[in-house]
Amino acid sequence: MAKNDAPKTAISPTRAEDYAEWYQQVVRAADLAESSPVRGCMVIKPWGYALWENIQRELDRMFKATGHKNAYFPLFIPKSFLEKEAEHVEGFAKECAIVTHHRLVAGPEGGLVPDPEAKLEEPLIVRPTSETIIGAAFASWVQSYRDLPLLINQWANVVRWELRTRLFLRTAEFLWQEGHTAHATEEEARAETMQMLDVYATFAEDFMAMPVIKGPKTASERFPGAVDTYAIEAMMQDRKALQAGTSHFLGQNFAKASGIKFQTAKETEEYAWTTSWGVSTRLIGGLLMTHADDDGLVLPPRLAPAHVIILPVLRGDDTKAKVMEYVDAVAAELRSASYGGRPIEVEVDKRDIRGGDKQWEWIKKGAPIRVEIGPRDVDGNVMMVARRDRSPKDKVSVTRGEIVSHIVGTLSDIQSGLLAKAKQHRAANTKRIDDMKDFEKFFTAKNEDKPEIHGGFALAHWSGEPEVEAHLKDKFKVTIRNIPLSGIDGVADAKELQEEGRCIVSGKPSRQRVVFAKSY
Ligand code: AMP
Repeated sequence: MAKNDAPKTAISPTRAEDYAEWYQQVVRAADLAESSPVRGCMVIKPWGYALWENIQRELDRMFKATGHKNAYFPLFIPKSFLEKEAEHVEGFAKECAIVTHHRLVAGPEGGLVPDPEAKLEEPLIVRPTSETIIGAAFASWVQSYRDLPLLINQWANVVRWELRTRLFLRTAEFLWQEGHTAHATEEEARAETMQMLDVYATFAEDFMAMPVIKGPKTASERFPGAVDTYAIEAMMQDRKALQAGTSHFLGQNFAKASGIKFQTAKETEEYAWTTSWGVSTRLIGGLLMTHADDDGLVLPPRLAPAHVIILPVLRGDDTKAKVMEYVDAVAAELRSASYGGRPIEVEVDKRDIRGGDKQWEWIKKGAPIRVEIGPRDVDGNVMMVARRDRSPKDKVSVTRGEIVSHIVGTLSDIQSGLLAKAKQHRAANTKRIDDMKDFEKFFTAKNEDKPEIHGGFALAHWSGEPEVEAHLKDKFKVTIRNIPLSGIDGVADAKELQEEGRCIVSGKPSRQRVVFAKSY
């Protein structure tokens, strides 16, 4: 095909042309978010926020079903609190926002300056995470083994002064939830850590249609202060990995730092065992990079802010009333039905703009289904239905009597189709690699059609030596994403990954394959 015959796409550049720029353009075209005057901080727009609210609602339901309760803790953390856990403070010191004053006064050269009279005795840190401030509360809430387990979640914003930011994926301020729990035994705290990792994996697959690999991180990638960090890792369409969520087993480190002690049944005093776990607005970036295409966002129906967009074709005043009456009746009928445990969300787009433009706007926003209704459809008691996971030209005529079952069936078909496609992509780009030459080729060979894209997930043996990890990171910018506990559909099951072998670099014995990849 000659270059100028190539099909036009709604997003320019395409994924193949410039993946990073494509990402920004999809965020913009879908009207999810924009950069703000504050460096590294974003404005989340209504369509993006509605998506976040759906993510929140479903996760919140899952947290409550596993016994957690929501609470809220201060935005500010006294500096001395952060300093209580040595590794923790070291890990976060580099990216902290600090409040030192509580008043501004007129400066000598105009403008406002911090009032030297209003200097805080102790600086406050804008929370980068809340282990220490929640720990202080837990220390007073927990007296006896009867107070345990304590299972708390907080929905909040946090600030980490990241230098290289990207909308949703890595921002200086982001929205998230952070679970914090305290337990009487190590065993219970470890079980909690794994339970929440499973909750995240289930959410990613069942709602986001994003397959993930569960497993512990290596020591170098651990959360500062944690004994063990577990993550869910997903493959994006450019074959890079995204850490989509983390669950930390904190041992007694934070309990000791914050003084979370309890009386056991035998009347001895012990430190509690704690966990923390979080996912953030990064999930929206992950969802985008898993499903969006060269025409824009593609939303999994279970999280879409609207399932069905009705586009009335309003030509001339004589038919307008008739079309709108029919449209409103169809909308009401759909809204009274449900999909995935919530009412079907219908938006009727009556705006007076060109039909083609309107259609493309919703394609770019990723709405799962579009329904067009014009005067002739009303006469024939039908409507034209198009789905976001098919070509925009691919429209089918559906009768009024069949529309509800057709929509419910199509939503569930889109949802399962997206997961299947993402799994296929991951399987096609995941390879067992046993030879250093193949490893190098996998991560450096240029793909002729897509020069910026290479590599994927390499399942290779690793001896556990940090030097090997550092060497590979240095040489290829490749890191160990995790040590897989779950299988990878179409590639290997968990058992097969836990086979013994020899480290790809040192040749020393290895007990399992790990996932190597470039990452966000
Ligand atoms: P952590 O407390 O470091 O384990 O972070 C919890 C989760 O928040 C991570 O797994 C990421 O998915 C997400 N996250 C971390 N840093 C950022 C950031 N700068 N912007 C958006 N999400 C983030």
